[in-house]
Amino acid sequence: MKALVYHGPDQKSWEDVPDPEILKPTDAIVEIDTTTICGTDLHILKGDVPAVTDGRILGHEGVGTVVDVGSAVSRAKEGDRLLLSCISSCGSCSFCQQGLYSHCLADEGASGIGWIFGHLINGTQAEKVRVPFADNSTYRIPEGVSDEAALMLSDILPTGFEIGVRNGRVKPGDIVAVVGAGPVGLAAVMTAGLYGASRIIAIDLDDNRLEQAKVFGATDSVNNSSGDGWIDEVKDMTDGLGVDVAVEAVGIPQTFAACLKIIRPGASVANVGVHGKAVELPLQDLWIMDITMTTGLVSTSTTPMLLKLVAQHKLSAEKFVTHHFALDEMLDAYDTFGRAAETKALKVAIQ
Ligand code: NAD
Ligand code: ZN
Repeated sequence: MKALVYHGPDQKSWEDVPDPEILKPTDAIVEIDTTTICGTDLHILKGDVPAVTDGRILGHEGVGTVVDVGSAVSRAKEGDRLLLSCISSCGSCSFCQQGLYSHCLADEGASGIGWIFGHLINGTQAEKVRVPFADNSTYRIPEGVSDEAALMLSDILPTGFEIGVRNGRVKPGDIVAVVGAGPVGLAAVMTAGLYGASRIIAIDLDDNRLEQAKVFGATDSVNNSSGDGWIDEVKDMTDGLGVDVAVEAVGIPQTFAACLKIIRPGASVANVGVHGKAVELPLQDLWIMDITMTTGLVSTSTTPMLLKLVAQHKLSAEKFVTHHFALDEMLDAYDTFGRAAETKALKVAIQ
């Protein structure tokens, strides 16, 4: 089959590789119908994720059809159309039993970040993929939900929702600020609306992303690319008090610091961004603030709930898809996604 293979920093190719095979009784083989590219794939390609080594097939989002199952797979059946979670999890270890699938302890469970597709197991940017723990790492797609919409629930929608909005404990009437309006930040913007936030303020350096944020339900947008004036702009939207919830959706020290500048006493700060550099936590200023700070890696335990909302047209997940490509146009898809500032790409559907 053909697959997108990583060959070290800045090197990838769409090439022939052996078909995946069932290796464990809990595996399934899924033929990919639609896959996509994530910012994380671009980080891997830059060499930022040393755990990913030469020869790895990339991609951790996908929708596909089951073509083979191992002897211990009971729920997934040949011919089923499934959404693949970006997290593989056994469903029975102590963390899985608490719904903390991203901390699954099993060999080939997510266990931190290790076994996510495209990291230590082969990924979804391929004609077929081996899915470990197929009963627990996949979700049945309801009738009427398109591949494009379902695909957004492999990673970005549950990430924005679970790690941003739910961890941030958004309540009706809250003023929510989302710093970083990339796909994940926009997923937080979109799902903050589910809780009746009174204002959703998108903050980004890029005016195009801020334009897009309005389409996802942001009531206000603030460009923070010059000086500190934007902080007062945000404070003015909150009667000078600060926001109730700040969601960090970039993953750099500056944006984490930005979240701390715009919150009111009693606020929540939900960190979603993956940080590669040390972040300052100025407790000397924060100790008095009564704030709650959260962190986390998406578990996708809320994906079934989000799928229901998509099926009932309460969430327009397909809005994220700005470009379409055929599977064998994978390299063009990377080019378009990699030049998002010019192409205005948010998510590309590759099918
Ligand atoms: P992205 O790179 O596509 O988007 C980031 C956005 O932030 C862009 O719109 C960019 O213009 C904006 N930005 C950059 N610097 C900024 C600054 N100084 N101030 C304001 N905005 C700024 O990323 P994404 O795919 O949307 O992902 C966002 C973050 O979430 C990443 O760190 C990603 O690794 C992380 N992530 C976390 C989880 C999790 O489980 N915690 C899962 C998936 C992704
Ligand atoms: Zn587990």
